[in-house]
Amino acid sequence: MAENSSDNIDNLMHEARRFPPSETFAAGAVATRELYEQGEHPVEFWAAQARELLHWHKPFTPERTLDWSEPPFAKWFDDGELNVAYNCLDRHVLAGNGDRVALHWEGEPGDSRSFTYAELTTEVKKAANLLTALGVKQGDRVAIYLPLIPEAVISMLAVARIGAVHSVVFGGFSAESLRSRIDDASAVLVITADGGYRKGKAFPLKPTVDKALEPNGDGEESTVRNVLVVQRTEGDVDWHAGRDLWWHDEIAQVDTEHVARAFPAENPLFILYTSGTTGKPKGILHTSGGYLTQVAFTHKAVFDLKPEEDVYWSTADVGWITGHSYVVYGPLANGATEVIYEGTPDTPHPGRWWEIVQKYRVSILYAAPTAIRTFMKLGRQIPKEFDLSSLRLLGSVGEPINPEAWVWYRDVIGGGTTPVVDTWWQTETGAIMISALPGVTTLKPGSAQVPIPGIAIDVVDDRFRSTEADQGGLLVITHPWPSMARGIWGDPDRFVETYWSKFGPTTYFAGDGARRDKDGDIWLLGRVDDVMNVSGHRLSTAEIESALVSHPMVAEAAVVGAADETTGQAVVAFVITRASQADAAAADDASAVLRAHVAEQIGAIARPREVHIVTELPKTRSGKIMRRLLRDVAEGREIGDTTTLADTMVMSVISNTLK
Ligand code: ATP
Ligand code: MG
Repeated sequence: MAENSSDNIDNLMHEARRFPPSETFAAGAVATRELYEQGEHPVEFWAAQARELLHWHKPFTPERTLDWSEPPFAKWFDDGELNVAYNCLDRHVLAGNGDRVALHWEGEPGDSRSFTYAELTTEVKKAANLLTALGVKQGDRVAIYLPLIPEAVISMLAVARIGAVHSVVFGGFSAESLRSRIDDASAVLVITADGGYRKGKAFPLKPTVDKALEPNGDGEESTVRNVLVVQRTEGDVDWHAGRDLWWHDEIAQVDTEHVARAFPAENPLFILYTSGTTGKPKGILHTSGGYLTQVAFTHKAVFDLKPEEDVYWSTADVGWITGHSYVVYGPLANGATEVIYEGTPDTPHPGRWWEIVQKYRVSILYAAPTAIRTFMKLGRQIPKEFDLSSLRLLGSVGEPINPEAWVWYRDVIGGGTTPVVDTWWQTETGAIMISALPGVTTLKPGSAQVPIPGIAIDVVDDRFRSTEADQGGLLVITHPWPSMARGIWGDPDRFVETYWSKFGPTTYFAGDGARRDKDGDIWLLGRVDDVMNVSGHRLSTAEIESALVSHPMVAEAAVVGAADETTGQAVVAFVITRASQADAAAADDASAVLRAHVAEQIGAIARPREVHIVTELPKTRSGKIMRRLLRDVAEGREIGDTTTLADTMVMSVISNTLK
């Protein structure tokens, strides 16, 4: 094979399966081809979407749609005024849809509650009055550290309603992680619960908050004045009189009426820390009008939403960006009926998700590849026991979805008929940026496909030249978009340096590798930091992992580059096998079979030097594979920072496998 002289990432994957939209789906689809033409004028396009999808207390003037005079700090619709919570609640009630169910909540132990739009509006009005009574004002930061219970959604909307800023911290994080997020944002209030349910057990949250709020090493007091505590598990809690308040006591004393005030479009809405897959999480800041416009548009067009008929379920926790944009703001802005579920997919039995789909007749499901691969590992007989016929559209987010997982998702969960949309985006982008539009796009398993209308994406080499078809390069965004991050909280320099310096201040560098095929469809290749260099060939993680997953023995795979004397770097793979295949081959044989399989699928250059069969992979709490830790193992180094890891035991288990 010829020496590869460019910086481009090699092209290894050849996926030929195609799924054009069915005639009936296309005929009834929300998205149309015309959207792409309209999107060629992004400023006008987004202005039209903002007017059509949202209620503005004070309309923005067309000339003020986008202010890009100080890149990379954009302003969208900045002389307009709106109230985000009013857009998600009151206006649906005023439009006569107060009786439509907004939320079907399912607790892990099997308890459930449903809220109509009228009921949810009342709950949020009360909570807004409560926050005001506690002295929370426009611009103040409120930390939310809750399990996925209705109060999490109510709290976020109440904070938004009074123009304050929420910082949701995933309920699985430690006191230390919580503390650093509270301190970073100088939060004045924490909303938490006594505990929540996970994996069949009640886990405490309040003690973690207590610990996080202790004076720090220098004796400095936290900025938090009050802690509001939702009663969920009825576990014992320590009580700090004067600081701690029970949610149910306080909420019973406030008025049920609250008039939503208008705030400027650029009023901060929330701070959210990235998943921390590559290093220290960044406090990403999002504002109101542009964010809500793009999450509402994408939720409607990408998920083909028919709010009168559909039951939508995003399985994400509100602690992640998907939980903000596609559990809270997008669906509720669009008046959708949605399901939220507190617990893990396998509690009390491995068919729990499918039982929920059956119970609520879920029609649109949005989940992560990590979950899909776990279900593949367990086998198709589990979902087969449930009636999944209500599903008509499936979505994927968080990591590249391997073609084999995509096809499995469509066949086994989607009954062989549902479109599957693979959506690429980030905490920083706020909303979906690349995705097929169902009913319009011919689907390709494993490709995120095309920028959504109004979004400008390119794949470039190190010198900012667009790559040719089938050449891998760097993913960049070349025009500002409404839901773009407005900064890193308290650190504008880090914002500029991380995302806007590689190619100048008007080009956003996403940090992901990608390639465009001959049809112009985009394939995500994994993080640029994870690209391997084997004998001068630049190999991406995603393609080799997909080649491994295409073997019937494999459910999930992670590959990393490890230093190698002859080739510079060598491919080292970590593989989880499917349950049905667990004892199919002894580990040594399996390893040889899989090495040969990769060579045959995508070429000898990608053949792993080692394939290790493992039972778990290191993942962030949002379910993403942390390859940098595997690289540490593969190179025999001490394992790096594991604070964002979901299960810290995993690393010692994997290290022992290698010994
Ligand atoms: P950190 O930036 O702290 O390392 P993170 O990047 O994991 O954390 P998120 O913002 O939650 O934090 O994840 C965004 C990243 O997830 C993207 O940059 C990309 O690498 C990956 N990703 C998300 N969706 C997709 C997708 N559909 N296909 C491929 N990769 C995806
Ligand atoms: Mg990131």
